[in-house]
Parts: sequence; structure tokens; C-alpha cells
Amino acid sequence: MLIVHKPDEIKAWVKSRRAEGSSVALVPTMGALHEGHLSLVSIAKEHSDYVVLYVFVNPAQFNDPSDLEKYPRTLERDVELAKSKGVDVVFAPSAEDVYPAAGGKLAGTCFVRAGSRAEGFEGDGRPGHFDGVCTVLSIMFNIIEPSAAVFGEKDYQQLQVVRQMVDDLQIPIEIIPAPLIRDHDGLALSSRNVRLTAEGRAQALVLSRSLASAVESVSSGEYDPTKLEQNVVQTVESSGEVKVEYASIVDAYSLEPVSRIQGPCQFLLTATVEGIRLLDNVRLEP
Ligand code: AMP
Repeated sequence: MLIVHKPDEIKAWVKSRRAEGSSVALVPTMGALHEGHLSLVSIAKEHSDYVVLYVFVNPAQFNDPSDLEKYPRTLERDVELAKSKGVDVVFAPSAEDVYPAAGGKLAGTCFVRAGSRAEGFEGDGRPGHFDGVCTVLSIMFNIIEPSAAVFGEKDYQQLQVVRQMVDDLQIPIEIIPAPLIRDHDGLALSSRNVRLTAEGRAQALVLSRSLASAVESVSSGEYDPTKLEQNVVQTVESSGEVKVEYASIVDAYSLEPVSRIQGPCQFLLTATVEGIRLLDNVRLEP
């Protein structure tokens, strides 16, 4: 497995693979890899001859400087995990190489503005977040030029925002969704989980449990989104330790609100535990 830091090097490597007639899929990450990220690698391998995984903690998508500062950085371990999963190249550039015009800073540099699917939910909780995501992905897509890129349904809104970006900007890259991976007890795997205490982690289980009971309610014929949302908020906040930021049932593709569960919907849930924002979601279908 190769470890590459410079954009020119990864560009040349991918170009050579393409010249041989091979396909290259990209797995974008911010590192601190876990089984959720590694499942994306397995899916990328099913779709292409080679897999490039990038590790870049993107300053442009953090609206809270302390969140950026506290974000776990574990490149050595990430490289080992990527290798064990059969990644071909880990691309780990510096901020100066990703945002050269601004010398690694962001002021004055060109940004991509995310489309309508970035409105609400994470878009409200983290102003500018999806513009930062779309900007770094545009840069990485231009540097690496993969034929496909894999995104986890863990960040469900992000997946739909990215799909909208490649459609609207006519970027010739296939976007492949990957199912949300959970821990043995149901907690959605996230790089942020390491910041939870044992007690906080136990409290966080209420997110996946309440969503699982929403799925059961739909199976038993409850199709009213407002009732399902209220039940989840009540359950999650019953302990008093976990604060819901949003609990919303939306159309699974447009992310528009729905008045009844008729077609595929997604229940998006974000709550704060010990000051850490945790995201979860499930598919609801009648
Ligand atoms: P991140 O490093 O958090 O930016 O995540 C990189 C990619 O991994 C994104 O496409 C995420 O949606 C995906 N991902 C993170 N956690 C999970 C998970 N538990 N299951 C599936 N995909 C995940």
C-alpha cells in the first residue's frame, strides 16, 4: 500500500491506473478510522479495480474551532487499518496542499455553495458545514479524478447533498451509498464516540433504540410523522441527560418534510450527549 501526501503524486498514480484501463474508487474520510469507514472500503473494492482512501480533517467544514481542534487525529493507526482492508493508496495531504491559494487558510479562497438539500438539519446546526464539504470534495475529485466515490448513510444528509452536487455540477463521478454500521449494542459508529465517557456512551444508546421503536411503530401501522417524531423526542430526552437537536422524518431523497409515511422516508436524529453531537438515522417505509 502506498502513502501519498502530494496532490501531483496521487494525480499521476491514478492517471497511470486509468491508462492501463483500470478503475479507481475514492473513499473520502477525516481519519480516526473505524469499522464504519472500513465498510466503505469493502464496497469501493466491489465497484473498482483500485481504492484510494483520503484522510483529511477539512477545516472548511468546521464552524466550531474547538470541534476542529478536538477532532481525533490517528494517521499511523489509520494507515495500518487501511492496509489491512486492502486499500491501495492512502492520500493524506496538508491543508496547504488542499487550499494552496489561501496558504492552507480559507479566507478569500473560492467556495462551492451546497444546494437545497443542505438546508435544515446539519445545515442549520452547523452553518457553512455543507459548503465546506462540497468545496473539499470538489477539490479532491479534481485532484484524484476517481470514477466512483463511496459515502456512508451514517451522514445521510451529506450523502444527498453530495448527490445533488455531482448532478447539478455534472461531475462525472458515480456516488455509491454505503449502509450505516452500528456497534454490537446499536450505537452508530462515529469517530466522535471516543470522546464519550462510559456513562455518556450508555446514555447515547437511547438514539438507536428510539429509532428502532419508530421502525416498529411504522410496521404496526403508525404513519403519522408528527407522532413518531414526538415519541422519539420524549424517549431520548426522558433521562434528562441527552438533548435532541432535531428529530425529523423527511422524504428519503429530496429531504423535504412529509405529512404521512407513504413512500421511502428517512428519520434523521441528532442529539447532544456530554456536549458531543451524535447523528443517527433509519429508513422508514410503509
Ligand atoms: P468522516 O470521517 O466522519 O467524515 O466519515 C467519512 C465517511 O465514512 C463518510 O461517508 C461517512 O458517512 C462514513 N461513515 C462514518 N461512520 C459510518 C458508519 N457508522 N457507517 C457507515 N459509514 C460511516
